[in-house]
Amino acid sequence: MVKLIDMHCDTITGLYDRRIKEGSVENLRKNSMHLDIEKLKKGNYMLQNFAIFQSLKKHENMFEDSIKYIDYFYQEMEANRDCISMVRAYDDIIRNEKEGKISALLTIEEGAEVEGKLEFLRTFYRLGVRMITLTWNYENGIGYPNFHYEEGKTPDMKSRNTIDGLTPFGISFVEEMERLGIIIDVSHLSDAGFYDVLRYTKKPFVASHSNAMHCCNNCRNLTDDMIRRLSERGGVTGINFCPSFLDEVPMEDERKAYASVEKMIVHISHLKKVGGIDCIGLGTDFDGIEGNLEIKDASYMQMLVEGLEKAGFTSVEIEAICYKNVLRVYREILK
Ligand SMILES: [Zn+2]
Repeated sequence: MVKLIDMHCDTITGLYDRRIKEGSVENLRKNSMHLDIEKLKKGNYMLQNFAIFQSLKKHENMFEDSIKYIDYFYQEMEANRDCISMVRAYDDIIRNEKEGKISALLTIEEGAEVEGKLEFLRTFYRLGVRMITLTWNYENGIGYPNFHYEEGKTPDMKSRNTIDGLTPFGISFVEEMERLGIIIDVSHLSDAGFYDVLRYTKKPFVASHSNAMHCCNNCRNLTDDMIRRLSERGGVTGINFCPSFLDEVPMEDERKAYASVEKMIVHISHLKKVGGIDCIGLGTDFDGIEGNLEIKDASYMQMLVEGLEKAGFTSVEIEAICYKNVLRVYREILK
């Protein structure tokens, strides 16, 4: 089995919210969601990123609430320390590998959790956060998202925002992230923001969960030029399993959409053609997406490996896609 690194899932906030709102007793070890430790073991995962996601419109105290989620993440790490361990540096990943443990990397999806304060950013670093998705679907003081989003309304996912990029605070934010050693994640960020990140940073960055626009015209996906620039910088984009980012389906039919391995391979083949094999990784978005998934949960991930083999990808290429490319970025940034 090929090892795997997944750059994005929403499992921790999903589990925590269900505990608070519904009194759920499910945990990270075993649950009915897309991802738990048993499924990670079956899938042969080397590392899973765990995002602390918050919607800006649903939380008033973003920083304080993120601490509650992070505390819950730490509780899960402690309860499962026999098989999973949090990583802060590249060497931790290698040590866990030797000890037969899965690595867990803590990330934030929605830069507004820093509430516009670089001291909060540094506090997150000290708590072990090693990747931050600069925006989610709202303008947040750091930058602007791909599209205009209002809860309950159908957004226009085809017009790209090429005007509004990073704010002056956003520029100092990405500069401080680079200095600290936190990976910049441009998924959800506007096109203008992507180019601002290119302009104001030097190190590789990632799109943790975005596909290729050429194969599915959705502004959450990367244009060919963005794929090339990301690749030239040594960055990686993670294949997102969200059905409507893989294939164009009308929003009203979104729940009927099907995320097939075949469609994932169409995106992977295009990314390879445009940016080369070295810019491709995985960012499933498990527990953050709905719809009909051929790879039903994390335990079935080797189906993607089998699909890639059948499509003619070599074992070297498959390892690059499944974990080595992301590991290269982690080695460079997480010192
Ligand atoms: Zn997302």
